[in-house]
Amino acid sequence: MIVAVDGPAGSGKGTITKRIQEELGFLNLDTGATYRCVALEALREGLTLDDEEKIMNIANNIDIKIDNTGDKDIILLNGEDVSEEIRTKEVTSIVSQVSSIIPVRHKMVEVQRELAKGKNVIVEGRDIGTIVFPNAEIKIYLDADQNVRAKRRYDENKQKGIDTTYDEVLENVKMRDYNDIHKKYGALKKAEDAIIIDSTELTIDEVVEKIKNIINSYIKK
Ligand code: C5P
Repeated sequence: MIVAVDGPAGSGKGTITKRIQEELGFLNLDTGATYRCVALEALREGLTLDDEEKIMNIANNIDIKIDNTGDKDIILLNGEDVSEEIRTKEVTSIVSQVSSIIPVRHKMVEVQRELAKGKNVIVEGRDIGTIVFPNAEIKIYLDADQNVRAKRRYDENKQKGIDTTYDEVLENVKMRDYNDIHKKYGALKKAEDAIIIDSTELTIDEVVEKIKNIINSYIKK
């Protein structure tokens, strides 16, 4: 069974899908992490965003695995644990452009489908209900006010020791929203059959509860 959760940066997808994984035993598939791996590898190879062909090559040749067995999800890039490194400012600042390269998207969609194969999975991203899993049993679109999302990301960064100002985070959220909405392929979009949850004034617990109720009533049907 597939539960698709789409929504903009900072809407709470990561925290919420992780909770569903813990509470319902679903596998949590963070599709943003796959694009972040490509962006990280491009940075390591000293590429710029103009080197589209070389970035495509990276996408075609890297091996991405997710280990969900421990407390924290571990993202493995060619066997190396890059869970922390894919969240740095440098990666975050280029990832939405990297993910706009259409062949990179085609390849990552294949990788994402492979990672989910045959499992009960909650998948978070931007185009999950529309492109990656258009037949997902449940589709959720998680939204929140832009300033609230930036504040949440800022607090999260502070906790993780990532040194940013609120204004920097807000600018990054605005830039990523713009890029994500205007992608030619795989843009951030509400699927027609998605259930919309606006988390601006909800706590994490309240959102988790809502999603669990949706999943449980689907299972009982
Ligand atoms: O979810 P996260 O913020 O980690 O995603 C990083 C970037 O990857 C997003 O800004 C977005 O540009 C891209 N992305 C995407 N499609 C997805 C998931 C993420 O284009 N399904």
